[in-house]
Amino acid sequence: MVNYLFLLSLFAALFLVFTFALSLFAFRYVFKPVAMSIILGASLAAYFMNSYGIVIDKGIVRNVLETDPNEVRELLTPRLFSYLLFLGLLPCLILSQSRLDYASPVKRAKSTLKLLSSGTLLLLVITLPFSKQYISFARNHRETRHLLNPTNFLYAVSSHIKSSTGAAKGSIQIGKDAQLRTTWQQRGKKSVVIFVLGEAARASNFSLNNYERNTNPRLKGERLINFTNFYSCDTATATSVPCLFSNLGRASFSRKKARTRENVLDVAEHAGIAVLWRDNNSGCKDVCTRVDSEELAQAEDPRFCGNGECRDEILLRDLQGYIDQADRDVLIVLHQKGSHGPAYYKRHPKQFQLFQPECQDEQLGECSRQEVVNAYDNSLLYTDFFLSRVLAFLKDNSDRYDTAMLYVSDHGQSLGERGLYLHGLPFWLAPDEQIHVPFFLWFSDGFKQSYGIDESCLSAKSGRKFSHDNIFHSVLGLFEIGTIEYNPALDILDGCAKTKSL
Ligand SMILES: [Zn+2]
Repeated sequence: MVNYLFLLSLFAALFLVFTFALSLFAFRYVFKPVAMSIILGASLAAYFMNSYGIVIDKGIVRNVLETDPNEVRELLTPRLFSYLLFLGLLPCLILSQSRLDYASPVKRAKSTLKLLSSGTLLLLVITLPFSKQYISFARNHRETRHLLNPTNFLYAVSSHIKSSTGAAKGSIQIGKDAQLRTTWQQRGKKSVVIFVLGEAARASNFSLNNYERNTNPRLKGERLINFTNFYSCDTATATSVPCLFSNLGRASFSRKKARTRENVLDVAEHAGIAVLWRDNNSGCKDVCTRVDSEELAQAEDPRFCGNGECRDEILLRDLQGYIDQADRDVLIVLHQKGSHGPAYYKRHPKQFQLFQPECQDEQLGECSRQEVVNAYDNSLLYTDFFLSRVLAFLKDNSDRYDTAMLYVSDHGQSLGERGLYLHGLPFWLAPDEQIHVPFFLWFSDGFKQSYGIDESCLSAKSGRKFSHDNIFHSVLGLFEIGTIEYNPALDILDGCAKTKSL
């Protein structure tokens, strides 16, 4: 049963604490700008929390700051403007017109002291009778700090600043000893591996994982090794992407650490593999800074682009030329726009609007849950098509090259379960939908033969629990790269690729 007296006490206590905090800024030329910034920030925070069921933490702040102008445009909805107008600008206008009496410093110090002492007394009176409830509330509802507006965004901004400054310049090199194992010299063909990095695809909506809708009509007929129990490192692109390419592992990962050290792409380069990153998303999050990269999200190619964005197929544009001119083995990362929300309907051409009616609004609250799911599933249909194009490209090249594909999503997505939309909840709070992601492998016959890959051995592992922590070592395993950084215990292919034991 809800304890209304406790709630009342909580409300009064918060009111007092906020009043104390604001009284510290009660100087002429300081108070109004501070109060207005807080009001504006709080109105935006309220909009995102109410519309998408998200909480405000440093991950969200990072996403907002690192997002590209196109993504921002998608979030600019009429509802956002009404929040900004009625909860932000209007109160600011009233405040700016109010005449405040700023007393002399001595008088002000006296009144602040009075406020603090009487306020503290009052605070004790209203909280002490509920001390038990306060203790259990603080213990059991840690998430409140991300929910309490405006302290949530103030806290989030300050922890984002803390975690993004002070990082050492330059890079800690890893795997400088990396080299391809001797078995490579016996191979007649070069290898081409395409690593498709998906966006916001969740495992449960792939028919490959027994979703009741056929969202993988093309992939169904392919010889994929599909891993059904795969988990992401985080719920947000800005953390998951650097995490999955690093060897820090989820438990000890931080953006700050990742920025200062190399990742699996660098190790592959050290081993002599040509690495190319192609991006149709919001950038590689510092992962591709030392390898070749191409930004295609803003390309102006009428075959793939229109209305300020490009379809994922652009990631394959002229790729043939790249692998033909490369004089080495090649690892290509294709970073999809995938199922980036909330405007799922913009992610696919008309012919993929199979599930109807489809939500055609950025404001997901304007659509029924089913319409949101329909639009999302249609974006997965397009990903299914895109991946089938990648496979067709690799098959076309399998006479001349040993080819393979790895697909994994950066994180999952909420589609209205428990009122949650999109992604980005703190990992410990995240529902399965935001962290359970699709992961699968495909090999050409030539690749299987050259690397001695035993598909049935891999299939036998496909129900085991794996995560982004396995990616670093599995990519090394895939290419048979020997280095001190390699940990076979984390390589999904370990024991299933015969040549490695040689
Ligand atoms: Zn993402």
